[in-house]
Amino acid sequence: MTATDKNPVCVENSHGRELHRAGWIIIDPFTIIENGYIETSNGFIKGVHRGTPAEKHIDHGPGVIMPPLVNAHLHLELSALKNSLPFGKGFRAWVKKLLEKREALGLEKLVKEAGKAALDLMESGNLYVGDISTLGITGSIIEESGLNGICFHEYLGSDISDIQPFFTGKNDSVSFSIAGHAPHSTSAQLLRMLKKRSGFAGLPFSIHVAESDDESLFIHDKRGDWADFLTSRGIDWSSWQIGSKTPVSYINDMGLLDSLTIAVHLLNANDRDLEILARSKAKVCVCPRSNLNLHGKLPDIEKMIQKGIKPALGTDSLASCKSLNIFDEMAFISNQYQGLDPATIFAMGTINGAAALGIEQYTGTLSKGKRAKFLYLPVRAKNQNRLFQGIISNER
Ligand SMILES: [Zn+2]
Repeated sequence: MTATDKNPVCVENSHGRELHRAGWIIIDPFTIIENGYIETSNGFIKGVHRGTPAEKHIDHGPGVIMPPLVNAHLHLELSALKNSLPFGKGFRAWVKKLLEKREALGLEKLVKEAGKAALDLMESGNLYVGDISTLGITGSIIEESGLNGICFHEYLGSDISDIQPFFTGKNDSVSFSIAGHAPHSTSAQLLRMLKKRSGFAGLPFSIHVAESDDESLFIHDKRGDWADFLTSRGIDWSSWQIGSKTPVSYINDMGLLDSLTIAVHLLNANDRDLEILARSKAKVCVCPRSNLNLHGKLPDIEKMIQKGIKPALGTDSLASCKSLNIFDEMAFISNQYQGLDPATIFAMGTINGAAALGIEQYTGTLSKGKRAKFLYLPVRAKNQNRLFQGIISNER
């Protein structure tokens, strides 16, 4: 693949020694080299150096070599629902339509479109993913596509007898773990059990939390449309320790928050919630484009950062977002959050995502010892600030 103004070239060294030169090299958001090269050997980065090597090398051009992007939260299995659901009729109407359409499409179509979306991710430089699947259909798609990261099998409801053993991947670049859907859709007993199992295996655990007003009202007031919905489905939530709590304080009381948990969304998170998250060292992943489409509002990323949180980026699914490309998510954030500097937004799409998925020993930066897998992006820049600006405004 050749570089155009917008598309990155994905570069990988798997054997032998290679030197890759470019006008700029971003090792991490705070360590940038102008005119340098990366030394790789047998799949790993051996070092990053200044200048042009005297020996034989691959010259990528005047643009930038940078770490691959990490989409820390998406649902590949919903890719067939792209552009088919209405956003303006409220979140509950959207969920209802999603379930109907997913059922009507059938597994074959869901698998086919998930496969196409996985290849798009590879081509657009989003090489690492945290994928959520309730149907269990995306693990092999991810492995075959060449993407790396974590496949989370997601559970909801209250049936604790239904938890499957972890899959063993064919490929050591993909790990399998589990996720609980959300505190208002998954029983406390099931959530605790899922967290215990993933924690025992030393794997990340993912949960949507503080996303909708229905969720907050149910957990705080023990009433509302969601309470009626659960009751109508015959789900007995009387033993759930909810009431006078926010979703974040509820899952904290349950013991779900630690450094292996990824709390996704946090649209309805107050100051105290953010302090709880920061203290617990839980990872945070935000999906602003999806949030704006479904809920008409955005997470307070500036406040998260003030509290010491390092948010990762996700897109959620193509059922609620135009693309799964983190370049697009960074461009959106750059437009919407004027107070965030470009290097911080770049960190969200790279190292923060790698840390959230627990894969920062492999990727997230281009430091020595990490995998020799990176992007070349043909942006031209006069200085470091322009460089980050050029990267994060790379919306397609
Ligand atoms: Zn999601």
